[in-house]
Amino acid sequence: MGVYEDLGVSPIINVSGSVTRLGGAPLTARGLAAFCEAAVDCVPLDQLQGAASRKIAALTGAEAGLVTSGAAAALTLGAAAILAGHDLGRMERLPDTAGMRREFIIAREQRNGYDHAVRAAGAVLIEAGFHELVAGAGVRRCEAWELEAAIGPGTAGILYVHDLHGRPPLAEVVDVARRHNLPLLVDAAGELPPRENLRAIVAAGADLVAFSGGKAIRGPQATGILCGRREWVGSAALQMLDMDDHFELWEPPLELIDKTRLRGLPRHGIGRSMKVSKEQIVALLVALDDFAAGVYDRDLPVFDGYLREIEAALRESPVECHWPAVAAGGVPLLEIAIDERRLGRHAVEVCRRLRRGHPSVHVGHGKLQEARLVIHPLHLTADRVAQLIERLRAELSPN
Ligand SMILES: *Cc1c(COP(=O)(O)O)cnc(C)c1O
Repeated sequence: MGVYEDLGVSPIINVSGSVTRLGGAPLTARGLAAFCEAAVDCVPLDQLQGAASRKIAALTGAEAGLVTSGAAAALTLGAAAILAGHDLGRMERLPDTAGMRREFIIAREQRNGYDHAVRAAGAVLIEAGFHELVAGAGVRRCEAWELEAAIGPGTAGILYVHDLHGRPPLAEVVDVARRHNLPLLVDAAGELPPRENLRAIVAAGADLVAFSGGKAIRGPQATGILCGRREWVGSAALQMLDMDDHFELWEPPLELIDKTRLRGLPRHGIGRSMKVSKEQIVALLVALDDFAAGVYDRDLPVFDGYLREIEAALRESPVECHWPAVAAGGVPLLEIAIDERRLGRHAVEVCRRLRRGHPSVHVGHGKLQEARLVIHPLHLTADRVAQLIERLRAELSPN
């Protein structure tokens, strides 16, 4: 019996990738070893975050970096940093932002469920622009002048959700932010790979960038990175770290926190409930090293082989397999387009049966409306491929 079975919970075959709902990415052997080693010793967490800042800065080109409890927490902390700066009174008040400059401008088309994390700090989102292509009412999407026109006396910053096809382009939003001397907070949680984005978004001029640690980086599930200007990363660190110390004894790492700017030690901040453990920090940094060095590229041909095996095994099934384009250095994907008429059941029902059977299989469900199952091989091993093929063939055979 395994640890999950002891609890009456059965491990699944996860072929939907690093999704949070199913447990994130698999921790690498090196990450796991680092996690175990780090767990048995104690270190001051601010010193450890100082070391993390040095490593993140070296790998991203940012001035400073902080390991957070996920990209969503990085967004809350980034917003809190912009709202409070180094003002101890403001740190204490958040998320109460009454009377402060608290508005973040965002393209209306970029609104999404994760911007709750920014609002959680006390920010108020001001939407700008239209996506007329989606509305079927025109040919243009949000333009930089629309963000600029939304800037007013209450504006605290600009929030941008990074995407290869994002509008306005990042460079134009950086330009608006610079001209109005406003900080730009970028959600780049899912923008790795390509590996270049680790540096490119900071290099393009973003002031604060949030990355997920439990997705492509393959760190512990509940980790993320906030990197960017020291001024704000330092404020974020102050609002996350445990502050139960004496000001005169406290020696924070200079690369992260400039003590001379503070009149005293803040109380626990808004991010105290988003704490990250020493072993999570260490394992994330090891994973980040591997990700940045391209170590995971070795897995790509193995994943490709798994998907080809699955494709071949479904030759007789009423399906057609497709290979969608993925980002450079991205994990290959296989889409299984179901002929619902020949099969005699809908894709949603196939999905339900795959989940309910044994072992339970969770496929990517982003294209169910097109009757497609998406197979993401990140969690696959040779053993699991064999089990997966058996389950897929069973649920994809007409009866
Ligand atoms: C996954 C994701 C997040 C949240 O990341 P966590 O590390 O799970 O907190 C935020 N924004 C976007 C766009 C994401 O894809």
